[in-house]
Amino acid sequence: MPASKKPKATKLPIRIGYGWDSHEFKRGTPLKIGGLTLPHERGLGGHSDGDVLLHAITDALLGAIAGPDIGTIFPPSDPQWKGADSTVFLEEALRRVKQEGYAVANVDSTLILAAPKVGPHASALRERVAELLSIPQNCVGLKAKTPEGMGTDNAAIAHTVVLLQKAARRR
Ligand code: MG
Repeated sequence: MPASKKPKATKLPIRIGYGWDSHEFKRGTPLKIGGLTLPHERGLGGHSDGDVLLHAITDALLGAIAGPDIGTIFPPSDPQWKGADSTVFLEEALRRVKQEGYAVANVDSTLILAAPKVGPHASALRERVAELLSIPQNCVGLKAKTPEGMGTDNAAIAHTVVLLQKAARRR
């Protein structure tokens, strides 16, 4: 397409983003999900702290602004991200969202894992995610499923959609 025919970049009033991630369970590491450490005999492996939910949310935020994905900004090959607290990734995504002139309206996630049960921690997880995103708790959806028939009992999977809205202008 010739440059002159290309649609111009627009500042949409709202934008949607989608993120997905999976990590394998591993012994000898704490289970970090949604910025919390959940009691369980195994944690999630990976280069960082393996926080599958924060990674999916981070990618959803980056996707909403058509930005580079989490692995491009924080390459697993870079030793500085070894064992990294995933809130660092989320904060960078939020910085980019803000820089583009947007604010998070709401976020909705589904966690898929065989164990531990998410139900008893759901409210604490929603509270923590709301705090990390600086949005009210009633703007954070979280569902948990077990991987029926999927054969992924050794992994935790997270799907997230996020809605951004144009940030209010500062006076
Ligand atoms: Mg990940």
